[in-house]
Amino acid sequence: MTGAPSSSASPQHGLTDRLARWARGLSGKVEESDEEEEQRPRTGTASNREINRRRQLYGDIGDFLFAHDLDLTPINFSVALDYLTGANIGVEKAIRAVMMERGKITNSWIESVAAEQRADEITPESLASMLDKVEENLGQFTGLMHESRNSAKDYGAALQEQAKDLAAGGDSEPVLSRLVGLTRSMVEKTRQVESQLRENQKQTQALKSSLETARRAAEHDHLTGLPNRRAFEGVLREELALAQEQHETLSVAFCDIDHFKNINDTHGHDTGDRVLKFVAGLLAKISNDRCHVARHGGEEFVMLFRGKTAAETCEAVDGVREDLANRSLVNRTNGERMERVSFSAGVANVLAYEDPRAALKAADRALYLAKEHGRNRVYLAAESD
Ligand code: GH3
Ligand code: MG
Ligand code: MG
Repeated sequence: MTGAPSSSASPQHGLTDRLARWARGLSGKVEESDEEEEQRPRTGTASNREINRRRQLYGDIGDFLFAHDLDLTPINFSVALDYLTGANIGVEKAIRAVMMERGKITNSWIESVAAEQRADEITPESLASMLDKVEENLGQFTGLMHESRNSAKDYGAALQEQAKDLAAGGDSEPVLSRLVGLTRSMVEKTRQVESQLRENQKQTQALKSSLETARRAAEHDHLTGLPNRRAFEGVLREELALAQEQHETLSVAFCDIDHFKNINDTHGHDTGDRVLKFVAGLLAKISNDRCHVARHGGEEFVMLFRGKTAAETCEAVDGVREDLANRSLVNRTNGERMERVSFSAGVANVLAYEDPRAALKAADRALYLAKEHGRNRVYLAAESD
């Protein structure tokens, strides 16, 4: 066994780490500077701006906690930080949903979200240990069933013996008392097996919920918090069935960040990561129960729209493209303005093709053409493709 250092940090560590990074000005969000900021007299240095930004964030976190009557606990602070910096899209989406539904979030709700996040930290080691436990539980269960069947067989055979003695006549008293003894011991054995089975069932329930959490973790991308390609494939199957059943349209879009390699090369991988999260956040903003977005891999995202025609999908994706292309992003690590970030996209009508795979291919081809023709544009696949 090689002793690879464990990468699973405790939630407390994760928080400390994030707070430390944030304090150093390396928070997860790539800040966008708006037009007003550009026109302000340039009296402040980059570090002044940074200090003001931090002060503002402190204030915003305080306001957020106060507005929701939340206690000043590390977990509440961490969730407020994630929400306000957009560092965790999952948390941001969950909070927006609860606020729409109930107007307010509570201490206990945050605890449950934090517990879910903690549970999402599944490592290959924890998965392997869960599988070991499943195997052990199954072994125990089979053993118990075997034992129980053997006891029942023995009891049956002993009863038959005693019944023969009774039929042969003679003194029934000792036979009856042996029968009572046998029955008592069978009742006791059954009770023991029952209690072991109950214990086994409890463990199985706990394992089921851990495996469910592991399955969820396996379907999410850690960097952006978006569903991953594997999850998308499931969503595609479900949405396709729904669209066919309800005679609705279904369109797919591939969005790929333009010249992303240059961003990494110029500003470093960490900034590249933050740009990825930023773009993921913009795409996630238009997602809902009829529009799904996932990270397909690398710097490529895939979106599925039910109830929109391919032309309407082009329009929706183009809105996000334009929004991104008009932003002026600042590299938070050094305060430098970055070159414009854009993406290209290819859209296809899923139901116009033989199967969804062919539609994905057509959207991918349209994306390729959008790149070929200059990038920062959205192309619709020709249905004869
Ligand atoms: P194009 O406009 O043609 O799409 O050019 P591109 O540079 O975006 O495409 P290319 O495929 O040449 O490069 C994609 C880069 O994305 C290479 C890879 O290192 C980077 N990348 C993939 N995943 C991640 C990630 O999670 N974080 C960061 N920072 N970079 C990533
Ligand atoms: Mg690219
Ligand atoms: Mg790519």
